[in-house]
Amino acid sequence: MAVNLNDSRRADGRGWGPGWPNCDTSKWVELDVLSPAGKVVRFPAHRVSSENGQLKFSEEVTFGGSVREEIRELVSLLLQVSERRGFINLQPGWCWGGACRAIKRSDGTLTETPSNHSWGLALDINAPENPFGGSTHTIERPMADLWNEYGFRWGGDYSTTKDWMHMEFMGTREDAKEMAEKAGKELAQEVDELTPEQEKAIKRMSTFLDELTEKLGKAADEPVSDSEDAAPKGAASRVARVVLASEKE
Ligand SMILES: [Zn+2]
Repeated sequence: MAVNLNDSRRADGRGWGPGWPNCDTSKWVELDVLSPAGKVVRFPAHRVSSENGQLKFSEEVTFGGSVREEIRELVSLLLQVSERRGFINLQPGWCWGGACRAIKRSDGTLTETPSNHSWGLALDINAPENPFGGSTHTIERPMADLWNEYGFRWGGDYSTTKDWMHMEFMGTREDAKEMAEKAGKELAQEVDELTPEQEKAIKRMSTFLDELTEKLGKAADEPVSDSEDAAPKGAASRVARVVLASEKE
């Protein structure tokens, strides 16, 4: 069954527990995507506060994550497929997920209604090129159609201020399960094979890890001090020595 994208119930009414201001971030998980273009794209959570009624984003935080675990696989697939089909070119630093906050108005002031970001059910994608209330955007109808099919409403379809960067899950927890299964059947094969760029990125990462391992191994063999007490053992101290050594370089 398709998810009703116009369900007027808030997410707490759809079984997702409390949102802003009593956000339950315990079920949030991290979302990192190795994009088909070979970039590692993080969707961090933001800590937000309100100053003179204006929303203020502070540095990204991870409360151990930023999307509800029930939708992680689903959004991960949708993001991958969106890029492979040429709908978007995901950019590191331009995307995020959870934030414990209310919905904002077009003038930036806050309403009293919790945002779907406060349930870990919304993502902002390539924000700088899809600005809230902006006149241009790179997310277009074909990408929205894809996401709609799996229960996400697009902020570009809002009747009020358009939120071009924004995708939010409108279903229940049962729907989330159903949509994840549907995506597994219909979309997973599209991302089965790594792109050449992803293969290159993975190779780069494994080379980096090999080099690090080698460095750590060497550091572990080097005598630190004559005194037994001054020579701490174990992985943590080896890491510390590598860091110290790299700082000296
Ligand atoms: Zn948003």
